[in-house]
Amino acid sequence: MKKGDFAPKLKINLPASDEHSISKFLSESGTFRDGDLLVNRDGVRIVSQSVSEAPPLIQPSDNQLSLADFDAIKVIGKGNGGIVRLVQHKWTEQFFALKVIQMNIEESFRKQLAQELKINQSSQCPNVVVCYQSFYENGAISIILEYMDGGSLADFLNKVNSIPEPYLAAMCKQVLKGLWYLHHKLHIIHRDLKPSNLLINHRGEVKITDFGVSAVLANTSGQANTYVGTYNYMSPERIGGGSPYGYRSDIWSLGLVILECAMGSFPYSPPNQEGWDNVYELMDSIVNHPAPSAPSDQFSPEFCSFISACLQKDPKDRLSTNELLTHPFIKMYEDMDIDLVPYFQQAGSSGSSLATY
Ligand code: ATP
Ligand code: MG
Repeated sequence: MKKGDFAPKLKINLPASDEHSISKFLSESGTFRDGDLLVNRDGVRIVSQSVSEAPPLIQPSDNQLSLADFDAIKVIGKGNGGIVRLVQHKWTEQFFALKVIQMNIEESFRKQLAQELKINQSSQCPNVVVCYQSFYENGAISIILEYMDGGSLADFLNKVNSIPEPYLAAMCKQVLKGLWYLHHKLHIIHRDLKPSNLLINHRGEVKITDFGVSAVLANTSGQANTYVGTYNYMSPERIGGGSPYGYRSDIWSLGLVILECAMGSFPYSPPNQEGWDNVYELMDSIVNHPAPSAPSDQFSPEFCSFISACLQKDPKDRLSTNELLTHPFIKMYEDMDIDLVPYFQQAGSSGSSLATY
């Protein structure tokens, strides 16, 4: 069926001239837009016109999106579990990232999954990627996410190799705010904090993504066995499996990510040039070797102390997000008013998607 082949079922009172034009905005899913008016089977809403830095027309609470309302633009990334595409909402022209994870789970888990993914939708923090809606259809979870036009920190690190301390402090502060929100407001452990789950954009923002998703996938892994995360950033207590792990497990991961950003390479070095023989060797290093630290001849004492506050093998010895937010490493660069916009843009000029959309 083509757009405009059928008339809207909902009868609304519009000026006569508008009644003709409105059908051309009708989508197959039943959402259409005419100027400031957004209409679907759930009702009519007034929305403001799109301008570049205006708040998004679609809000996470809308709960009215359908996959049929989006045009696929291009593939922007692939992970272990699935594929991420840039998509555009047909009527508001707003860009989103659509993540599709193939996963055949039992019928009984579908409701639980939908329920748990709702946590994502309830988040309201500038340093957490907004999840607008999630669907489970034909053995795949589809999640509509806020589009981050700078890509991931992993992509960024590939371009810049390492990040100087002042920029790193500004970025770390944002990650800590996002993590504080997950821990203290949503009461969830991220479980999979790593460079590819930290996303950046042209406004100089850094946001955490894929929280909740990994928790859901881990919980349902017995049924799914399609999801294999990386062990690189997992805390010793989580790998060891002896005791239950908590919020401080994310602090360990954060410490490793920040140290990797500063040094330009993953803090655990493999025993030979070819890399790790197998994942158990790395896991053994994390559990049985001393925690990595920042070399004091290359970094400020404040930075070294920050890393040490995160990379403690005993979770009780690690600082919390609250404590880290007031750590001297974060504080000493605050007065410098570091602007991440030009920094991200400069690195982006060597091939990033930054500011393309
Ligand atoms: P893994 O599957 O091991 O967790 P991953 O985190 O890289 O790895 P995905 O979460 O599927 O896997 O993401 C793949 C890539 O897609 C990311 O590295 C990032 O470059 C891109 N991406 C993901 N979400 C978004 C988004 N909301 N906006 C822009 N790019 C995104
Ligand atoms: Mg991810």
